[in-house]
Amino acid sequence: MLTGAGVSAESGVPTFRGGGRTAVWKGMPFEVISSAGMVRSNLPEVWEWFDYRRGVLSTCRPNPAHETIARWQDRFDSFTLATQNIDGLHAAAGSREVLELHGNAWRARCLKCGGREELREKPSDVRPPVCVACGGQMRPDVVLFGEMLPERVWISAAERAARCDLCFVVGTSAIVYPAAGLPYAAAEAGAFLVEINPEPTPLSEACDATLRGAAGEILPLLDEEGA
Ligand SMILES: [Zn+2]
Repeated sequence: MLTGAGVSAESGVPTFRGGGRTAVWKGMPFEVISSAGMVRSNLPEVWEWFDYRRGVLSTCRPNPAHETIARWQDRFDSFTLATQNIDGLHAAAGSREVLELHGNAWRARCLKCGGREELREKPSDVRPPVCVACGGQMRPDVVLFGEMLPERVWISAAERAARCDLCFVVGTSAIVYPAAGLPYAAAEAGAFLVEINPEPTPLSEACDATLRGAAGEILPLLDEEGA
C-alpha cells in the first residue's frame, strides 16, 4: 500500500503546499523554506517553520483510513505500507514498520553523524537541537526539495513493490517521483493495481480498479465487505 496526502487530509493535515507560487511562510514559497539550500543557509528558520508545522500536526488524529490500514497489516501474510506523508499518523494508528519515503516531521537527524532522535523526547527550546551522540547540530529528518529519498527506505519499498500481488495507491496524485514509480513497478511485477482517490490521477489509466472517493470512507467499506 502506498499512501499520500489524501489519507491525512481527512485528519485536517494541511498539505502546506499552497499550489502554484503561494507564499506560505514569511513570504517564502514552500520550495524555498523547505529546501536543502535553506538547511545550509538558515537552519534556525527551517526549525521555526517545522516547529510551526508540528504545532498544527499535534492537533491532528488518525482517521478511519489510517485505522483500516493499520488493521490490514495483520490480515495479510505479507503487508507493506509505504507513505509519502511525514505526519506520523500511520504509526499513531498502530501501523508498524512504515516505510516513510519522505521522512518524519517528529524526528531530527544529526548533520554530523546522521544519528536520529525523536523530537518529542528533546527540549523544544533548543534550536537547532543538539545530537546526544556527538553534539552536532540537527535538522528535521524529512526529505526537502532538492534532496534524495532515504536510500534504505527507498530500496525496501522498491523491493516490496517488485514482489507485490495487490497494490493499493491511496490519496496520492501519483506525480511526485520517485515514489510515484512504485505502483508502476508493482504493476510490472504482475500486481493488481487499485487506486483510491477522489479525483482521477495520471496513474488512473494504469489501474485495474479505481475507487473514487475519500480514503476514510472507501477503505472502511472494503473492510466491511471482507475484500
Ligand atoms: Zn550526531
